[in-house]
Amino acid sequence: MKRREFIKSAGLGAAAGAAMLTVAQAKAQQTSGLPNLQWRLAASWPKSLDTLFGGADLVAKRVGEITDGKFQIRAFAAGEIVPALQVLDAVQAGTVELGHTATYYYFGKDPTFSLGTAVCFGMNARQNNAWWYTGGGAEAMAPLFKDYGCIALLAGNTGCQMGGWFRKEIRSVADLKGLKMRIGGMAGLVLAKLGVVPQLIGAPDIYPALEKGTIDAAEWVGPYDDEKLGFNKVAQYYYYPGFWEGGPMLMTLVNEKKWNELPKPYQAALTAACGEVNAWMPAKYDDLNPKALRRLVASGAKLRPFPRSVMEAAERASYELYDELKARSKHWATVYPQWKKFRDEQFLWFRVAESTYDNYAFTSKLGAGKS
Ligand code: CA
Repeated sequence: MKRREFIKSAGLGAAAGAAMLTVAQAKAQQTSGLPNLQWRLAASWPKSLDTLFGGADLVAKRVGEITDGKFQIRAFAAGEIVPALQVLDAVQAGTVELGHTATYYYFGKDPTFSLGTAVCFGMNARQNNAWWYTGGGAEAMAPLFKDYGCIALLAGNTGCQMGGWFRKEIRSVADLKGLKMRIGGMAGLVLAKLGVVPQLIGAPDIYPALEKGTIDAAEWVGPYDDEKLGFNKVAQYYYYPGFWEGGPMLMTLVNEKKWNELPKPYQAALTAACGEVNAWMPAKYDDLNPKALRRLVASGAKLRPFPRSVMEAAERASYELYDELKARSKHWATVYPQWKKFRDEQFLWFRVAESTYDNYAFTSKLGAGKS
């Protein structure tokens, strides 16, 4: 190699090396350039509920781990920053950057918020996931959340809930008349059509109300949570199913302005953490509920299915309400028809393989006693 050529190629090599260094440096700068953030999450749940509050806490913890501690979120329980039923307000106002809640608590602002959690005779957990993730649900609901300055990320599901705790047996629709019942979300409007006097009360305040007799009945979630809240100590009859919550979704609500300011990798971290919690929470419930149900029955709880006449009356009342709401909310008028069409298709499909399998396998006695 001639000297001049050597100098030329060495120079090129050095230039290439310098360029590579620049890319590496830029990458390092980009990573280190991500801001240190500390956000506060307001949850609608007491700390004692390691299912629901545990979900909110896991969102926070995982975001910290994914971002190497740069994006820190701290989860606060109901009442620590705002009461259980004011999480949406706090996120909208920017009092906190984000919250973990059931959006049906806010049906008084707009009934369409109910579709972000559950409505009577709605979908199960699998079907809700299908609607939200790929069936157009998230997109259909986005304009509603935007009106309240939020974006919503699906982050949890309890699975089908129980119908709750009653002091007296419910043998017919007539037994519901005048019954003061704590019930989540818009289901209260449906049951009101059957004579129930519904009360929307946050988790920490249900037990005292039931104990004092301010209410006659209360539903929360299912065996594991209900045992922790102690309802079996003050009411004997444990009804199922919670036909108003076939697979209710929980949401992480993020203040829209704060979300838009987030670096893209942090948006991805938060989205991924919510997705993980959406798988983790129903797993935890399904693992813990059967054990808790055994303990509750052993301690004297009397399990009862709702009579079919009550279920049918409630279903008729539901469709009546859903029709009325079209005139009351522009969001409902847009989202409900899309939701209903999707739900009907899901029900038709689930009738074929899933329901046939479930109904056979879950009730067959052939496996009993076999190891
Ligand atoms: Ca409930």
